[in-house]
Parts: sequence; structure tokens; C-alpha cells
Amino acid sequence: MLTGKRVRIRAKGKVFEGIVMPSFTGNLVLKLDNGYNVGFVEYELIEVLGELEKVEFKREILRKEGLPDVKIISTGGTIASKVDYRTGAVTSQFTAEEIISEIPELAEICNVSAELLYNILSENMKPAYWIELAKRVYESLKSYEGVIITHGTDTMHFSASALSFMLSTPKPVVFVGAQRSSDRPSSDATMNLLCSAKLSVSDVGEVLVCMHGSTSDDFCYAHRGVKVRKMHTSRRDAFQSINAKPVARIYYPSLEIDWLSSRFRRGERELELKDRLEEKVVLIKFFPGLSAEIIDFFHSKGYHGFVIEGTGLGHVSTDWIETLKRVCEDSIVVMTSQCLFGRVCDRVYDTGRDLLKAGVIEGEDMLPETALVKLMFLLGNYDFETAKKLVKTNLVGEIESRSVY
Ligand code: GLU
Repeated sequence: MLTGKRVRIRAKGKVFEGIVMPSFTGNLVLKLDNGYNVGFVEYELIEVLGELEKVEFKREILRKEGLPDVKIISTGGTIASKVDYRTGAVTSQFTAEEIISEIPELAEICNVSAELLYNILSENMKPAYWIELAKRVYESLKSYEGVIITHGTDTMHFSASALSFMLSTPKPVVFVGAQRSSDRPSSDATMNLLCSAKLSVSDVGEVLVCMHGSTSDDFCYAHRGVKVRKMHTSRRDAFQSINAKPVARIYYPSLEIDWLSSRFRRGERELELKDRLEEKVVLIKFFPGLSAEIIDFFHSKGYHGFVIEGTGLGHVSTDWIETLKRVCEDSIVVMTSQCLFGRVCDRVYDTGRDLLKAGVIEGEDMLPETALVKLMFLLGNYDFETAKKLVKTNLVGEIESRSVY
């Protein structure tokens, strides 16, 4: 691992010296002494010029009797990163000592153990990682009172959906992230983590996402993992429950919890893991003019699960009907809406009725991403006919029985 080290390289006929920055593309990214970052695809390493000093955390953590034990699993993202101002490198070791020394108030809520599972930006997540994460959480739930997962915010709702379906949990499993890294004055990391710690020891047995509820530092929302979506690129209150109420509001700094909707309570469900996902499932956003060849393409590659983000109530062009009819013979096709808010209803217009006749299944009020992960889960764990039936069955709160206006 060269990350964080000063190196001398030869590239493009010249010699460069600088600090190796974290890179997720496979290219070498150097921070030069003039402060600029430069990426190199081809280079020759001449010399490693030294190691960075490790930051030592002196604070000793004493386990407090009587406080619940909570496991924090880190997967990366902004919440786990700290910028080293000497180098500009973003680092994360994420030991319990590091977390507690950053946020000492955590030690008043629970005894924290920490595990660094991944250190990736969440756009680099994949179903195989969701499976591994679900297994780690499952193991942790056997001995801890709750689990917190720190995660990049971009795809947090996919991971939260995956764990919601794969894990039946009697205890809280709380995803948390940050829109601004902890070294920035406007960071949301501390408040989000403290609120999620409080949730992780509370009376709930579900997979939740805990993020800022407003642009001020006054409360966080706990969203159901299958009903939440990032709705803004940068606001601290970017996460919203869609077609559902948040599960709870956690006030800051009092950390009092207001439960806002019905929930699985702590101990209500048995701990169980279904650890298979079918990866050959695709989410396709329809737009005017998109050819149904896209469906044939994936079908010819062995895909048997399709989620379509249709227009309005759940439509695609009439040109698609014949293709969909054919594909529905051996595949599950679920219709969701690019409106996100509201429920799919294909009984209103002719296109919709034709889609239903072709075998397309209405995705009710499910988010497209939730429907995608659900279909991966269903095709991975059940036979085809059962999977088909379960699409419209509410399993873990992903479908609300009625839409409230
Ligand atoms: N895009 C990165 C991610 O989702 C960083 C942003 C963040 O952590 O919120 O992991």
C-alpha cells in the first residue's frame, strides 16, 4: 500500500515527487509539493521516500459496566474520513479509540467496539459486499445490543434495503453517514453518530437510516431502510422517507426519541439471515424514445429480473409491449415510477392495462432502488413462482398498504 507515502516516480519522461493519495480508479494520484493532485495511468516507481507518522490516540477506553455494548462497522464514505492537512490525504483507521477520542459523548451512551470492514466510497459498493456486510452484522447481533454501520451516503439506501430484506433482526441496525466530513465546521458526522448510537440501544428491531432531519443541528430522523432515499446532493437533511413517515425523530442534544410510526420492537423478531442475492437483475429508467432493445440486451445476457422506472403512474412506450410480453414468460418485470412519490397504477390508461396483460407487475409504492434490491433478494432465495408472488407482498415495510395524501 503506497497510500499516504512520499514517493518519487518517473512518468511522461519526467520525475515527480509527492504524497500518494487514496485512489479508487487504480490510477496513481500524487499530491505534489505545490499542492496540486496529478493522476498517472502509466508510471515507474523510482523510490519510496518515507512513511507518514501515525496519529496516536492516547485516550484509554474503559468499559463502563451497565452500559450496552454496541458494534460500529465502518464501510467508508465521508463519515469515516479525516483529512490530514499536512498531506491532504483522506485517512481512516476507525478504531474504537479513534471514534471515542473524536466523539467522547459516545462513551456515555454505550460501550463501543469498532470494526473496519471496508474503506470505500459507496459508489464502489456491490451486492457481494452487501452479503458480506449482512453476514458481519448477523454475527455481531448475536453478542451486541445494536449495530451501527457507517456508510457513504450516495448508495446508503441500496445497502439499507439489502440488509432489510436479508436480515430478520431483533435489534437495531442503524446506517449512518455524513454529508460533510468531520474536519469541517459544518460537519453532520458527530450529531448523526450520537443520534444513531441512541437509536442502536433503543426499543426497535429494524434496519434504519439515521441522518440530519433539518438543516440545523436540532434533530435527526430515523428512516426505514426500505423507504428512504438521498434527495439532495449536498444538504445535510438530504435523506427523506418516501411514501412513508420516518420511524422516529431523535432530538439533539437531548437525544430524546419520538417514535413517529409503527415499528418492529426490540426482540419482536428472531435473528435470521438469508444470504443470497441474484445479481442478474437490472433497473432501467425509461425515457421518451428509449428502445425496448435494452430489455432484449439484458435478457440475452441471462437477466431474469427487471425493474422499470416508468413514467407517471407506471408507463413505457406502447412499442415496448410485445418485447415485455415475451420477456415476462421467463422473467419478473416490476414497474415502478420515476415520480418516486405515489403509487403505481396500471389500470387507469390503456398503456398500463396492456402492460399488465403482458405480465408486468405493479411495484405498488416501492422506491425503484428498493424494488431492485427486493427482486435480487427474491430471485436469490425463492423459486420463480414464489418470488413472483412476493413482489407485491409487503415483507419488511417496503410497501405501505395505502397512500396518504
Ligand atoms: N460519494 C461518496 C460516498 O457515497 C462520498 C460521499 C459520502 O460519504 O456521503 O461514499
